[in-house]
Amino acid sequence: MAVVRRFGLPLLLALGLAACAPPPPQLYQERIFVFGTLVDLGIWGAPPERAKAAADQVARDLHVMHRDWHPWEPGPLTELNAAIAAGQDYRVTPSLLPLIRVSLDLERRSHGLFDPGIGRLVALWGFHSDDIHKTKPPPDPGLVAELVAKRPSMEDLIIEGDRVGSRNPAVKLDFGAVAKGFAGDLVLARLRELGIEHALINLGGGLSALGRHGERPWRVGIRHPQGAGILGAVTLESGEAVHTSGNYERYNEYEGIKYSHIIDPRTGRPVTEIVSASVIAANGALADAAATALVVAGSRDWLEIARDLGIELAMLVDEQGTLYLTPGMLERVEFDQPPKSLVVKNLPGATPAGGSPR
Ligand code: AMP
Ligand code: MG
Repeated sequence: MAVVRRFGLPLLLALGLAACAPPPPQLYQERIFVFGTLVDLGIWGAPPERAKAAADQVARDLHVMHRDWHPWEPGPLTELNAAIAAGQDYRVTPSLLPLIRVSLDLERRSHGLFDPGIGRLVALWGFHSDDIHKTKPPPDPGLVAELVAKRPSMEDLIIEGDRVGSRNPAVKLDFGAVAKGFAGDLVLARLRELGIEHALINLGGGLSALGRHGERPWRVGIRHPQGAGILGAVTLESGEAVHTSGNYERYNEYEGIKYSHIIDPRTGRPVTEIVSASVIAANGALADAAATALVVAGSRDWLEIARDLGIELAMLVDEQGTLYLTPGMLERVEFDQPPKSLVVKNLPGATPAGGSPR
C-alpha cells in the first residue's frame, strides 16, 4: 500500500503530461555539409535517440568518404593519382578500393562513356575547383587533343590486392560522377545495420531511399534543367536511388558559351546536346554513373548504353526541351507541367559485341 501511495501521484502526473505532450516527431532530419554540397538525411519512424545516433554515424562515414575520395583536396585519392603520374603503384585505403572496383565495372558497361580515368581532362576544363560557376577561357584545343590521344581509362589500372597502379600515366582518377551514388548505397547499408528501416538521403543530384515514408513510398522531385522548379516527381521503392546529371550544376560560361562539367571522353570536350539525364536504379552507384553516361551518349546512343548498363528507368532532356524516356520511366514520373515534346522509346534488344560507341 505504502508503495502505491508514494508512487501513485507522480505516476498519474507523468501519464497526464504524456497525454498532453505532442507525439514524438516521426521524421528525424539532419543536414550535413559534405562533398561540397548540403546532404539531407531524413529518418522516419525510429525512436529519436536511435535516429540521432544513426545520423551521427552516417555523418562520420560521409566525412571519411569525402576525405578518401576527393579528387583535388590532398588525401588518399590525390596520393594515388600522384603515384600513377609517377609510374608507381600505391596501397589504397579500404574505402577507396570498392569504389575503384565498382567504377571499373560501370565504365566497361557504359562502353567508356562514364570514365573516371579522365580526371586530367576535367581539371584542364577547370572543374577541379570549389568554384561551381566560372568564367574562364576554354583550354587550348591542342592540350585537349594531346590528352584524348593518350586515351586515359580505368582499363589501364593494374590492381593487385590493395595495390593500385596504371599502365598509362595519363590516367587521373576522378569519381565525381559516381561517388555520391556509391555513398548513398553505403549509407543505406549502414542505416540497415543500425536498425533503421525507413530513411531518405539527398546527396545533391541524387537520392537513395530505404523503406517507406509512413503509409506511402518516398516521393521525390527531379529538378528542372532550366530554372529553379521541378520537372516532375517520382516514387522510390526501398533500396532504389534516383540520380540526375545536368549541365546546370557546374559549368563555365565564357563569351556567351556554356561549357558543361560533363566531358565526352571521345572528344575531350564538354557535352552539348543533352542538358540533363535522370536514372532510377536499385543501386545508387549505377544510377549515378548511368545518368552521367547517358548525358554523354546523347539522343543517338542513350538506349544502347542504358541497355548495356542494365537500366530500365531513364529520362533525358535536350537543349530544345525535348524529353526522351523509357516506357518504365514514363509510368513513374508525375510531370509538374505537361511536357511539350516527348519521345518514348523501348530499350533495344541485345546486339552482338562490336557496336561500341567508343
Ligand atoms: P555527375 O554530376 O554525376 O554527372 O558527375 C559529373 C562529374 O564527374 C564532373 O564534375 C567530373 O568531375 C566527372 N566527369 C565528367 N565527365 C565524366 C565522364 N564522362 N565520366 C566520368 N566522370 C566524369
Ligand atoms: Mg553521375
